[in-house]
Amino acid sequence: MCGIVGAVAQRNIVPVLVEGLRRLEYRGYDSCGVAVHADGVLKRARSVARVAELDAQTASLPGFTGIAHTRWATHGAPTTDNAHPHFSAGPGAGKGARIALVHNGIIENYEELRRKLAGAGYVFDSQTDTEVIAHLVDQLYEGDLFEAVQRAVRELHGAYAIAVFCRDEPHRVV
Ligand code: GLU
Repeated sequence: MCGIVGAVAQRNIVPVLVEGLRRLEYRGYDSCGVAVHADGVLKRARSVARVAELDAQTASLPGFTGIAHTRWATHGAPTTDNAHPHFSAGPGAGKGARIALVHNGIIENYEELRRKLAGAGYVFDSQTDTEVIAHLVDQLYEGDLFEAVQRAVRELHGAYAIAVFCRDEPHRVV
């Protein structure tokens, strides 16, 4: 497993998230990323280069709540589209993201979940097993992120760690 950092604060959290990734670099990784809640919108930066390059990208990405990730690809090549955080905007296209999620590990039943979620109208932007979790949490979300995550993990098989936050609950990371 590589690395996950998450934080909620009353000041810009991005430098803390990036410093967290820097401290996890020794574990090895092929890509990295950070997502924040910024004025009611979820924003992210992702890189297939080093954390230092991600740091340069995040200069214009302030936020008080966020998650960050170093990836060691298991499902899907080490590309920017496959780098975490992954977003879910709900079924259909053309909307802003509601759920942001990072994940270390493997979801063994992701193909079955992907088929079900695609059938429900979710559009996939990556080849990862991770993206199914973001869409599943979105599908199960009824106003309480913790409950949605609890319900989602009951459907996941594998060994993994995740961190999630939601546009509609700006001061919470699960
Ligand atoms: N299975 C996930 C992926 O390929 C997570 C890999 C990891 O642990 O970094 O994106």
